Amino acid sequence: MSSIIEHTKPVPSAAVLEPFGGGGRALMLGHVHPDADVLGTLLGLGLALEGRGWSVTYGGPHPAPALLAFLPGIDRYRRLTTLDGPVDVVVLTDCPNPQRTEGLIDQARRAGKVIVNIDHHPDNRRYGDVNWIDASAAATGEMVYELLTALGAPLTPAIATNLFTAIHTDTGSFRYSNVTTRTFTIAAALVAAGARPEVVSESLYERRPADALRWLGAALARVEVSEDGRLGWLALPAGLVPERVVESEELVNYPRSVASVRVACLLRERDGQVKVSLRGKGDVDVQKIAAQFGGGGHVNAAGCTVAGPLTDAMRAVLDAARRAIDESRAS
Ligand code: AMP
Ligand code: MN
Ligand code: MN
Repeated sequence: MSSIIEHTKPVPSAAVLEPFGGGGRALMLGHVHPDADVLGTLLGLGLALEGRGWSVTYGGPHPAPALLAFLPGIDRYRRLTTLDGPVDVVVLTDCPNPQRTEGLIDQARRAGKVIVNIDHHPDNRRYGDVNWIDASAAATGEMVYELLTALGAPLTPAIATNLFTAIHTDTGSFRYSNVTTRTFTIAAALVAAGARPEVVSESLYERRPADALRWLGAALARVEVSEDGRLGWLALPAGLVPERVVESEELVNYPRSVASVRVACLLRERDGQVKVSLRGKGDVDVQKIAAQFGGGGHVNAAGCTVAGPLTDAMRAVLDAARRAIDESRAS
């Protein structure tokens, strides 16, 4: 493509639709530690393209988590270290930063293919040939729904389930401040097309192994809240709680659930690094805290990865969070 296309409205422009006209080969490329928004949208769009005769492959730097094994088509999603064979279009969804493909996007670019970047993160780096960035969307799932509608692609129950799960998880089960009337309108259309809310909820939250609650208890015993009540955090040293429990429990929501807490922080140590999740409630921009450590995200949900050991990472991140809270009080 000769020029970079940028579009920021909720409904896709003709230039955004153009790469999906006709047919061909598409690679649906995921970001590191894939979540339901990226996987649901890659699968939802990919399955729709297959329905139009495209040949589609799915993959990314990390495998899909076991928790999301119920997403229709997830068995097609593979861990990739290299890209095999030429493709016409490479689609990235929910991926604000090309570094979050661990180099796979550079391979895609060297092959001279069209890269389509569909995302709702305000800090998206516009790394595609076509960049559709709608920061007003609660989830990339809303955008892919609009894309399929504009393409006139039929919504099968499999596609609807993928998109519904993407929206369900990024909105905290339709509870967060990113939820709009459009979120519910799209969710209603997805349920009409065959997504089943009770099956999605049961798959996400009610398939705990028998020992999970004991581990959850051990983790929650470590939640701390600052003296002024505004900062809540949970720091987990490597190996203390099984990774499968940490991955499936959205642990950062517990310090966030304390009434006085303005910023919640989960710090997970693994392989000498500390993965940090930050959550806010509207008055402190947690993306700005994450950005100080090379991370990113949204105003109320952001993350970064910091070098260990855990105590050093904790001090640095919690200090930055305290400063951000103090600044928000001053303003
Ligand atoms: P998480 O806490 O992992 O659920 O992530 C919350 C939000 O922060 C998501 O929108 C992620 O895209 C973003 N995020 C998490 N980790 C990073 C990171 N290391 N770099 C950039 N963005 C991140
Ligand atoms: Mn994501
Ligand atoms: Mn998302």
